[in-house]
Amino acid sequence: MRLETDNLTSYSLLAVFAHPDDESLACGGLLAWCADRGARVALLCATHGEQGPNRSGNNKTPAQLGSTRARELKQAAKVLGLSDVVLLDYPDGSLKWSDTNPLKEQIVDAIQKFRPDIVITFGRDGLYWHPDHIAIHESTTAACATMGTKAPALYYVTMPPDCVKTLVDTISSRPAAHALSKEFCGISDLNAFGAQAPHPTLVLNVGCFAIQKLSALRCHQTQVAGSVLMHMTDRDAEELFSIEHFHRSIIGQTHNTFLESLPSRPNK
Ligand SMILES: [Zn+2]
Repeated sequence: MRLETDNLTSYSLLAVFAHPDDESLACGGLLAWCADRGARVALLCATHGEQGPNRSGNNKTPAQLGSTRARELKQAAKVLGLSDVVLLDYPDGSLKWSDTNPLKEQIVDAIQKFRPDIVITFGRDGLYWHPDHIAIHESTTAACATMGTKAPALYYVTMPPDCVKTLVDTISSRPAAHALSKEFCGISDLNAFGAQAPHPTLVLNVGCFAIQKLSALRCHQTQVAGSVLMHMTDRDAEELFSIEHFHRSIIGQTHNTFLESLPSRPNK
């Protein structure tokens, strides 16, 4: 049965990620789309990203960077139309080696609070083997598994290999962007993105919401200043950010969700 998808006010989605900026990069188009159609879209982010790079040009202590990234996340959430942001304070960079039992409980609490139809997080590859991404995948999967058949449908973000490399090569080959770093998210091996990602079971064209995704990513200035993302046009976003990929887990509800009923691309 296909569901009504122009009006999503009776639906709810919870995204669970490790760092401020993961939400925009991984599935910003879908989050914006669902929020625009009235769904309640909440985000739980496990760390402040205080050990990450700082490309904004101002020296910051980890605590200062964490505060700045919290503000950037708030701005990105506004751009995407998120209704709720839960920002936790687990140690950035060492989530995998932390006691994640409390995190698992906090994810269960968030599921009970927001009652999402859908939970989205990273797959077991962490998109590019980032240990924090793998840790949030494991904690979210474990949290949903403890809820048995009452768990919401669980989806993992995934991407085809070459996706990020194509984006970076396209933008950085232009004369104005020639001198830019070819790193993406601080990773120089662009072939790492999606190299071991699970195959997609759901491929969505997020259409016009790709521009919102780019705007949201640019809110994370400490992460994207001086990168190819600052040289993308709206048209680039529609070409290079319009497809988002997801893999549905076997955990949780098994019926068709509203995601599977979304049209091939949104009508604005
Ligand atoms: Zn991350």
